Amino acid sequence: MRVLSRCSQLAADVAVVGGGPAGLLLASLLAESGFKAVVLEEHRVVGEPPHCAGLVTPRCLRWALGLPLSGEYVQNAVRGARVYSPSGATEATVERPSVQAVVVDRPLLDRALLGVALSSGAEVLLRHRVRAIRRAGNQWLVDAGDVAVRSPVVVDAAGPRFLLARAVGARPPRMLRGALPAVQVELEGVRGMDPDFVEIYLGSRWAPGFFAWLIPTGDREARIGLAASRKPVLPLLKHLLARHPRLRSRVAGARERRLLAGVVLVSGPLSRTWGNGALLVGDAGGFTKPTTGGGLFVGAISSRAAARAIELAWSRGDLSSRSLSLYESLWRAAVGRELAKMRLARAVLRCLPDPVVEEAIGVLRSRPVRELLESSSDVDYQLSGVRAAAVARALALSLLT
Ligand SMILES: Cc1cc2nc3c(=O)[nH]c(=O)nc-3n(C[C@H](O)[C@H](O)[C@H](O)COP(=O)(O)OP(=O)(O)OC[C@H]3O[C@@H](n4cnc5c(N)ncnc54)[C@H](O)[C@@H]3O)c2cc1C
Repeated sequence: MRVLSRCSQLAADVAVVGGGPAGLLLASLLAESGFKAVVLEEHRVVGEPPHCAGLVTPRCLRWALGLPLSGEYVQNAVRGARVYSPSGATEATVERPSVQAVVVDRPLLDRALLGVALSSGAEVLLRHRVRAIRRAGNQWLVDAGDVAVRSPVVVDAAGPRFLLARAVGARPPRMLRGALPAVQVELEGVRGMDPDFVEIYLGSRWAPGFFAWLIPTGDREARIGLAASRKPVLPLLKHLLARHPRLRSRVAGARERRLLAGVVLVSGPLSRTWGNGALLVGDAGGFTKPTTGGGLFVGAISSRAAARAIELAWSRGDLSSRSLSLYESLWRAAVGRELAKMRLARAVLRCLPDPVVEEAIGVLRSRPVRELLESSSDVDYQLSGVRAAAVARALALSLLT
């Protein structure tokens, strides 16, 4: 980090707008390969304000984000999920003997990524809000008020604000359809919780168009939140806490530590994620799982693909949109099919009326379906492999008979 005098102009190879996980990871990878990468982040402290439940797989942490599993950002480890039907009367548990996901403190995780970016040689300018990004000859000019960065490549990593989407010819997701408002509270003093399990609450009366969650961060501490295809979401959260038959008595008297709001993206990557000297990574490119809105794993994949595409295009001396379209081939090869399947699954799940969901949870309790699910499910690759098809078939048949 460095202090800049007023109205400085900086030259960089790549300007990265946004110092979240996607931007910081990309900047680290580029800096490690010898690029001058400059990150512009609007906040004074990275990771603040938090906007995440912090549930990631060990694979995401270690392999995709390149961080150790033992960092101070890890708060808890879970090995399964309890899913509650809309009435709360039925509960299905999916579990495995080993750790399936870890719960992280997002601000600390983002700061760990900042540390890696800085030690790799990336430059990170905090308190620099990008106001405009425009083309100037064959360069980009990224205007952050007292600083302007001039670079042949610009990357939008600014989350669901979609600063560059239109410039590359993509349409940002529509609010309440592809982009859902979300709210989450951190509570201390939650009773009757098993810290090994996350909890999922289904039903249109609790979280229309999506679901509500409880992520344990300790024995009696949890993040409870929801996203929905209806606004406002804060009254929905209050209603969930006050009325849900499986939750209300357990949270009565719990202390509220922090309330946050955000946007959960569920429509998958934008129709175009690259342009002339420009790429979109992380939430800015729609890189989240359409089923759950989880974006850390897929966003990290997008950053890795972007770093590789920039390196190859640079080595060819061709940063045109045609040359950078390699980016899409790379991320598609890694997660394209999976995301397309999740998108389809979301389209189906979104339309299911509560009585069908109620019944489906009952079916999930049946041993053959549960065993199939437990042996095939994976938080990152949720719908991979033949077993996923077998689960879907078993579910469908049970619902039809
Ligand atoms: C309530 C909620 C719960 C979630 N839970 C999970 C979860 O459990 N697991 C999971 O994997 N994902 C989860 N997600 C999604 C996850 O938080 C995002 O996918 C992830 O943060 C995306 O990272 P990113 O780097 O692309 O964007 P961000 O984390 O949004 O980072 C973007 C950065 O850009 C900065 N910025 C924005 N505009 C500008 C500007 N004009 N100039 C400079 N800087 C700018 C912002 O300050 C921010 O630091 C959740 C999301 C929400 C809303």
